[in-house]
Amino acid sequence: MFDELSSRFEDAVKGLRGEAKISENNINDALKEVKRALLDADVSLSVVKEFITDVKDKAIGEEVVRGVNPGQKFIEVVNKELIKIMGNENSPLNENENSPTVILMAGLQGAGKTTATGKLGLYLKEKDKKVLLVAADIYRPAAVEQLKTLGSQYELEVFSAKEKNSKPEEIAKEALNFANENDFNSIIIDTAGRLQIDDSMMSEMVRIKEVSNPDEVLLVVDSMIGQEAADLTKSFHEKVGITGAILTKLDGDSRGGAALSIRKISGKPIKFIGVGEKIEALQPFHPERMASRILGMGDVLTLVEKAQKEVELADAEAMQKKLQEATFDFNDFVKQMRLIKRMGSLGGLIKLIPGMNKIDDGMIKDGEDQLKKIESMISSMTLEEKQKPEVLAAQPSRRQRIAQGSGYEAKDVDKVLADFQRMRGFMKQMSNGGMPGMGGMPGM
Ligand code: GDP
Repeated sequence: MFDELSSRFEDAVKGLRGEAKISENNINDALKEVKRALLDADVSLSVVKEFITDVKDKAIGEEVVRGVNPGQKFIEVVNKELIKIMGNENSPLNENENSPTVILMAGLQGAGKTTATGKLGLYLKEKDKKVLLVAADIYRPAAVEQLKTLGSQYELEVFSAKEKNSKPEEIAKEALNFANENDFNSIIIDTAGRLQIDDSMMSEMVRIKEVSNPDEVLLVVDSMIGQEAADLTKSFHEKVGITGAILTKLDGDSRGGAALSIRKISGKPIKFIGVGEKIEALQPFHPERMASRILGMGDVLTLVEKAQKEVELADAEAMQKKLQEATFDFNDFVKQMRLIKRMGSLGGLIKLIPGMNKIDDGMIKDGEDQLKKIESMISSMTLEEKQKPEVLAAQPSRRQRIAQGSGYEAKDVDKVLADFQRMRGFMKQMSNGGMPGMGGMPGM
């Protein structure tokens, strides 16, 4: 699936090479692909539309970095924006410093609430918390048993109803008292779900919330429900008020678009993801990983890198041509200097060249000083002078001006210029396969 997606992106961005800015015109195809990728990942339509508008506004007018065409640059913007919307970083559990931390679990039946309650219990126990799991699902005896089984397996204490007809909010209240009396510092309340959103479930949640005053209300969402995650989040958030979410069953092939819908609709972070039926299969949520998953971006980012390399290669070829034709000018010289600087120090590079390891540090320092000198002279040149070093040879007044501007003497400028011309000739010979008659980069 990712292969197909990245080849679609590749198609979408073909033909845009060479443009310097993202514009309304050159972005439309890439925009369509992003929309399709988000819908494929089951992000809800309204969220997709809003996202595309936002991101388009942000992207238009963006300068395209050399080597990245507008389509690819746009995808970078999209990726960054997705990560930003999902909170940039992992959002930790809100823990209460002074009294037991209370976590209320909410969600539809089958979402993975009971499993997530056990998982979170184990997670907190591993952080040295004394954890109490509370079975407040009075409708499904199997759910209470499931929690008890999990609890006994992992030595987590489970609190369940003492009386047969207790209401969920009564169970929650008793559990809180029990926790306070017995020095528990983390309480996770598993509540009853329904197959669909329904009013009695919501009002029950509200009552439990009122008596337990939770630090976290975590909505557990099955990532496989796709588009429906949007309505689900909206209902729970409006009626109960959530503080975060756990996205389950991401070990399957769901692309996780629900994460974006949940965050965009509630403004609350996804805190954990469930990646398996086993109790250990709980992981903190990481926005950047989810953004890649939603967009199917792994390959697309590789594509961007590849394009950058291609352009560097094309640059190198263009440079070679200039050398052959002896049109290499001072602008090219500065460009090459920057490239060398990006690769590390001049000395470090020279020492890598076979046979050059005998060059001592003093000589390298001289070379580096000389290069600095040349750079400051070049910065005193006019555009014409940089492009056509010949005009300098012809007019001494220009050389005088550069000497003054760069703080050197006219004879220094003359020397650099002569070296530069010689280097040009030398390079022309080298790149045409001939033996150089005389040599030396300026300053070496
Ligand atoms: P509840 O009704 O919300 O309490 O849901 P359960 O905790 O009983 O989970 C419903 C089913 O989903 C069970 O079969 C779980 O084993 C399974 N399940 C829960 N979380 C995950 C998960 O992250 N990945 C997978 N593959 N299955 C899960």
